[in-house]
Amino acid sequence: MSDSERTTLPLVFDEPRGRKKPPPHLADLALDERVERLKELGLPGFRAKQLSNHYFARLVDDPAEMTDLPAAQRDELVAALLPDLMTPLRTMEADRGTTRKTLWKLFDGALVESVLMRYPDRATVCVSSQAGCGMACPFCATGQGGLQRNMSTAEIVEQVVAGARSMARGEVPGGPGRVSNVVFMGMGEPLANYKAVIGAVRRLVDPAPEGLGMSARGITVSTVGLVPRINQLTEEGIPVTLALSLHAPDDELRNELVPINTRFSVAETVDAAWNYARVTKRRVSIEYAMMRGINDQAWRADLLGDVLQERGDWGWVHVNLIPLNPTPGSKWTASDPADEREFVRRLEAKGIPTTVRDTRGREIDGACGQLAATEV
Ligand code: SAH
Repeated sequence: MSDSERTTLPLVFDEPRGRKKPPPHLADLALDERVERLKELGLPGFRAKQLSNHYFARLVDDPAEMTDLPAAQRDELVAALLPDLMTPLRTMEADRGTTRKTLWKLFDGALVESVLMRYPDRATVCVSSQAGCGMACPFCATGQGGLQRNMSTAEIVEQVVAGARSMARGEVPGGPGRVSNVVFMGMGEPLANYKAVIGAVRRLVDPAPEGLGMSARGITVSTVGLVPRINQLTEEGIPVTLALSLHAPDDELRNELVPINTRFSVAETVDAAWNYARVTKRRVSIEYAMMRGINDQAWRADLLGDVLQERGDWGWVHVNLIPLNPTPGSKWTASDPADEREFVRRLEAKGIPTTVRDTRGREIDGACGQLAATEV
């Protein structure tokens, strides 16, 4: 089957139709569309640029702080392009406040989470791209609740802007700072919400007043491996880092751990990732959650090494091992540290650079695979 045939098939991961959309926000629109929107509402179009600067350059959305706008029109302008999209319900902290997980309530009551992580040399926001997730990976808490809905571009961007605000205002220990990295590793499968995610990436990268002006190199899009969408991303011309959640080098096990593998095999998926690296010159990251006695055997390390190595030794890939985080009802546990070390050793012996992820926020259920967005 060709890619184009595949993309036109009704996709199992499409969201239910006929839902109410979030109110339009300037982050959903390009600058000229923002101007148009204001004009449609009978408001002066040139104010779009000022509003955009407040939001993206100053990280301000409170009308009271927009003193360059006529006081009488401020509320109307803000209502037109900066509607409230989400309300923080709760923030939990770990690592002495340098890891902060926020639970958000969206306009329709849907709940999502984002995580801000500050390191000595960078700050990363881990964003959600869907409320829930339709991919049903059995070891991931998000996958257990199913998909509620796709998030809009602005709902995704707002998580980053909120993190940037916390950093700018010095709310995170370490003094005022900036967000340097964004990872699409929160709730949801980003490539199943392709259009909104690409819109968000563009808004993050475009300089103010169009967007936040971040470097594409600081952005990582993580996927279970929707092959046609990886191919589409390859053609997009935005050099983000691609992370592929592989978790097994063989179809038999991957069919169980990452059910979409029954649709796109390990070989097809790894080929698409390899091609992404070839075209974009960006090293792909293979994510591999280490599960005791399930996928952490020495022979699987060798097989993973072969699967990656046989596609080239020009540094197109590295492996990021993730110690499995506990999730409710999961029958799996993290690997023995000795098995993990052996796994690393075998991959490196085959010339595959390998790191073990320094997982943050486990104690606040904020780590990989733990985001479930439950209200308590
Ligand atoms: N749906 C995308 C984005 C989520 S990223 C994807 O799967 O890539 C979240 C990462 O955490 C994925 O690599 C996922 O497989 C991994 N993960 C899920 N549950 C986990 C768990 N319990 N412990 C460690 N990693 C987990």
